[in-house]
Amino acid sequence: MPLSPASGTIAQPRRLWARMVALFLVLGAALTLIGVQVNRAVDAFIEENHWVIHTLEIKQAIATAVAHLRDAEANQRAHVIAGNQQRLEEYQAALPKLMLQTQQLAALVAGDPAQRAATAELIEAIDQRQRTMAQILAAFHQGGLEKVRGNPAFAASREEDRRIDAIAQRILTAEDAALAERQQKTVHTAALTRTLTLATIGFGMLVLMLALVLLLCEQKRRLVSERRLRTSIIELAQSLEESRRLGHTLRQFSDLGAMLQGCRSLDEAVSGIRLALASLMPDCAGSINLINASQTLVESFACWGAPAPVGEALFAPDDCWALRRGQPHPLAGALAAFQCNHLHGAEGHHLCVPLMAQGEMLGTLTLWAEGAIPDATHDIAVSAAEQISLALASLKLQDTLRTQSLRDPLTGLFNRRYLEASLERELLRAARRSLPTSVLMLDIDHFKRFNDNHGHDAGDALLAQFGAVLTRTLRTEDIACRYGGEEFTVILHETGAADAAQRAEEIGAAVRGMAVQHKRQTLGPITVSIGIATYPQDGTSCAELLQRADRALYAAKHAGRNQVRGTAA
Ligand code: GH3
Ligand code: MG
Ligand code: MG
Repeated sequence: MPLSPASGTIAQPRRLWARMVALFLVLGAALTLIGVQVNRAVDAFIEENHWVIHTLEIKQAIATAVAHLRDAEANQRAHVIAGNQQRLEEYQAALPKLMLQTQQLAALVAGDPAQRAATAELIEAIDQRQRTMAQILAAFHQGGLEKVRGNPAFAASREEDRRIDAIAQRILTAEDAALAERQQKTVHTAALTRTLTLATIGFGMLVLMLALVLLLCEQKRRLVSERRLRTSIIELAQSLEESRRLGHTLRQFSDLGAMLQGCRSLDEAVSGIRLALASLMPDCAGSINLINASQTLVESFACWGAPAPVGEALFAPDDCWALRRGQPHPLAGALAAFQCNHLHGAEGHHLCVPLMAQGEMLGTLTLWAEGAIPDATHDIAVSAAEQISLALASLKLQDTLRTQSLRDPLTGLFNRRYLEASLERELLRAARRSLPTSVLMLDIDHFKRFNDNHGHDAGDALLAQFGAVLTRTLRTEDIACRYGGEEFTVILHETGAADAAQRAEEIGAAVRGMAVQHKRQTLGPITVSIGIATYPQDGTSCAELLQRADRALYAAKHAGRNQVRGTAA
């Protein structure tokens, strides 16, 4: 995953929540703003309504005052023209109402200096008009209509009425203008409120959509993360399984290596290798092929698995590409264009891995499978081949060392150390089974003379050939040793005295028949003296038996050599 699990998966939701909080804070601020604006608009509407009522009251007050004035004028005029007393009373009754109305009007415009001044002017004009009416009445009461017509107040009445109307009209016009101005403000506030409300609704929608998009993105990211997590868990499980398998394979390798280190023979090692490789690579059949000492032939030494391996059981090293090139054939992942000749058209897939140690070719590990051989199996085969090569080299070395430590290099027979160990083991076995065992002590007759006559090399050739004759004459379970110089010892496995004497005679006859070849010359004749001792009648310990056999040999020498003697003689 590109994100580190700790930082990435935790940082993403935090960033999302920070964005969401920021968005909703902005939305809250916008809603608060629109709330304030709506509140202001409502206040403006209420105030506007109040002022409309106020203007109507002023208009009403002016109209009522003017109506009371006109009422007083009409009654005054009717009284003057007709002398009607009742109209005079009505005139007098209208005057207090007029005064009250002008007072109300003054109270209504008290807050507006301009209208207050205009109203004062109107009240003053009305007062003047009342005084004029009072003067006309006084003139009428003094001298009747004639007196009225001559009075200058009568002439001023009309002008005073026009002035009152003009002032009233001015006040009304000013009120209308103020009202229109307030209405204009209200319309502006309403428009602003509408715009802000629509903008806030739009913005709110935008914020909600953005929040929705962010949540959807987060949800998608979560799904991707979960999928990745699931994939990671599966990969981890596979990796754990792979590690477990690898650990198991390594343990098997380690066990195989340890077991191979402890093997004492090639057969033992190969049987272990066969089982181990069958378990390590269960899908493949296989074989171990070993090169002979002269590096001329490769022989199938062990095979396992199914399908049964095919191909040559015996082939030349050059028939195998792995042996030719000193590397696995085919290489991992490479196309197997060339097939090894020793497989000659075998079905399926094959892999040959060379067995090499310290630069020496030891053989091949060959695998067969019906399907393609996986790279993992290829790697296991290469590692196994390394282990096997080391083990084979070690076994070869052990074999050489063992041969050197147990064998006499000249004759190829066992040495005296081996004789003593073997005789002891042989006697224990014979005791357990209650069976006899015989020991022959052999000494070549007049060997010194042979040396003297033909040279030391000829003596060595005789010794080597004598060893070969002994090996050929004896059974595989018998043990022939060079005791020292020209003296030899033979352990005859589970053989009684009579059989031993017969076998000794056979050896004597074979020696007499020897024709030692040295420097294109046939040397001889050779004879041997043999003494026999048999377990248990001649002794039960190694030393005792060897001593008795040696004594019998001594007797044979004394009796004229070239003969066999037992202890009884
Ligand atoms: P006898 O019939 O009494 O056994 O006489 P012999 O000459 O065989 O016995 P002797 O003990 O007198 O001589 C043994 C000789 O064997 C002496 C020694 O030089 C020779 N010899 C011992 N080891 C070797 C060897 O490895 N090679 C050779 N060529 N001669 C050896
Ligand atoms: Mg001797
Ligand atoms: Mg001798």
